[in-house]
Amino acid sequence: MEKFTVTQLERISELGGSQALADREFETIQERDSVFRNEEKKLVQQCRGRIKELLADKHMTDSVSVGRTLESWLIGEDFTKVITPTIITRDMLAKMTIDEFHHLSEQVFWLDKKRCLRPMLAPNLYVVMRELHRITNEPVKIFEIGSCFRKESQGAQHMNEFTMLNCVELAAVPDGQQLDEMKRLAHAAMKALGVPEDAYELVTEESTVYGSTVDIEINGLEVASGSYGPHFLDSQWGVFDTWVGIGFGIERLTMALAGSKTIKKFGRSITFIDGQPLHI
Ligand code: ATP
Ligand code: MG
Repeated sequence: MEKFTVTQLERISELGGSQALADREFETIQERDSVFRNEEKKLVQQCRGRIKELLADKHMTDSVSVGRTLESWLIGEDFTKVITPTIITRDMLAKMTIDEFHHLSEQVFWLDKKRCLRPMLAPNLYVVMRELHRITNEPVKIFEIGSCFRKESQGAQHMNEFTMLNCVELAAVPDGQQLDEMKRLAHAAMKALGVPEDAYELVTEESTVYGSTVDIEINGLEVASGSYGPHFLDSQWGVFDTWVGIGFGIERLTMALAGSKTIKKFGRSITFIDGQPLHI
């Protein structure tokens, strides 16, 4: 029995072919290659169709619309969108205790001795929410959506540059209600995206160092992580009230919703657009 070659399998995966197709077996190499040529032609047609549809009707990739849907939901919940720099300082990172002993520290892209590309949105959001609260003395609800950068060992679920949406509310719930509020936000986010309740899971993890964290998982894939305070990091930032925050991975969400196994099709790219390869 003959199976598709590695190169043929890569092409089938790039073109979004099914697992059933990838698993097919053949009597002869000739038969295999002829089936491959036929199937490739069909898949290319489909990809071309989807790209045409994107340009003619959709005008927005699924990743963009996942981000926009979450933004609209948050604005409906009275959150305000903020935009902060992608380049942060070593001092900011150190306040997250991402020093040389932290696992993330090896993943940081350094620009020079004092500056790096942010691996997360939290440091900037800590500062902005603290200042807004100081000025208003009211609860503060803000979010940011933007690129984060991490050196990753390049699995199918990680990219060096990805889009995070981080929402956080400060002094918005009484102490003791943070976990409930975080779960409420997580459920509301999934509802906004039209993810049915049986299609995702909230996985709570207790950690003596970090307190409780809640991950949202779709088919076992982590698409978001939430945490809350008072938190041991807070005093570093001059934050003393309760807070609740969730960070969503936009491409992870898009990939999970598309039932895809490869994140790169949904990220910033010059080889894919909206899940479709440009190499067709
Ligand atoms: P993982 O354990 O999957 O590497 P993480 O727990 O380190 O993720 P968080 O710091 O919790 O990631 O970031 C919040 C969300 O951002 C994650 O739930 C995930 O959806 C997304 N994310 C994190 N790292 C990446 C990456 N390298 N590429 C794409 N998305 C990412
Ligand atoms: Mg996480």
